Amino acid sequence: MPTSPYRGRFAPSPTGPLHAGSLLAAFGSWLLARQAGGEWRVRIEDIDPPREVAGAAAGQLATLAAFGLLPDGAIAYQHARGALYRAALDRLLLQGDAFECHCSRADLAATGGIHRRCIATAPRPDPAIRLRVPDGCHIAFDDAVHGRVSQRVDLEVGDFVLLRADGLWAYQLAAVVDDAAQGITDVVRGADLLDSTPRQILLQHLLGLPVPRHAHLPLLLGEDGRKLSKSDAALPVDATDPAGTLHGLWRCLGQAPLPAADRRTLPGFLAAATAAFQLDRVPTRAIPRSAAMHNANVAGDA
Ligand code: GLU
Repeated sequence: MPTSPYRGRFAPSPTGPLHAGSLLAAFGSWLLARQAGGEWRVRIEDIDPPREVAGAAAGQLATLAAFGLLPDGAIAYQHARGALYRAALDRLLLQGDAFECHCSRADLAATGGIHRRCIATAPRPDPAIRLRVPDGCHIAFDDAVHGRVSQRVDLEVGDFVLLRADGLWAYQLAAVVDDAAQGITDVVRGADLLDSTPRQILLQHLLGLPVPRHAHLPLLLGEDGRKLSKSDAALPVDATDPAGTLHGLWRCLGQAPLPAADRRTLPGFLAAATAAFQLDRVPTRAIPRSAAMHNANVAGDA
């Protein structure tokens, strides 16, 4: 099968309804995939049952559909993909890049939560498995929005968890395995994950997987100046006027207003937005959510 030259994805965790910030990430990744003539996949990251909200995944998919953001191919569900994560973990263990860790949270408190070597005094029945981050590990990448980003993974993150003490898979490993298994060429997501990317690139190197391109989109901030979170159920997106709502998010992506004529129907808006989107206009800074609402129905100049 020929591989797509561009394959993007949106990968929500089903912890609540999509809020404006997650819809912005979905819209941005959809726009870039469509503009490139590529595919856009949706993956439900349901590997953390304690944080999952019943019905959230179905609600998120319904919201995407209401905004015309329709995925290509089948929806992937991470809960069904444990065998892939296990195979990757076994490889890392075999290579000596991962190890069983008996440290407790209290043990790590003394090191600011950054693990460099095991300091546990007693074995635990439920050890976590961590990635061994080499001393001096420096990972840099070029983000399409933020430019050059670099991190000293050993000092800033430390040996990070791949399999949690409670037996659940860690996001970093699952995302890397799935991005490769799904042939994702372009990771476009919120800037809250900018500091996860070096960890993911390190895993890609160690697992011999391709490193996708990255673009991290601005976060939306709530009234309190903090990032919107999915558990902020008080802030649902307005699906009664999908083109108007998306136009507000479009403006948050730094794009020039689209003429009113292009916003009359959702398909018309999505087609005009796909044609007009300019990645180099996307800002790096976080944006108050009120800006999205204010811009939703701002008249264009035509
Ligand atoms: N599941 C993550 C979230 O909802 C996003 C993962 C990703 O895009 O890599 O925040």
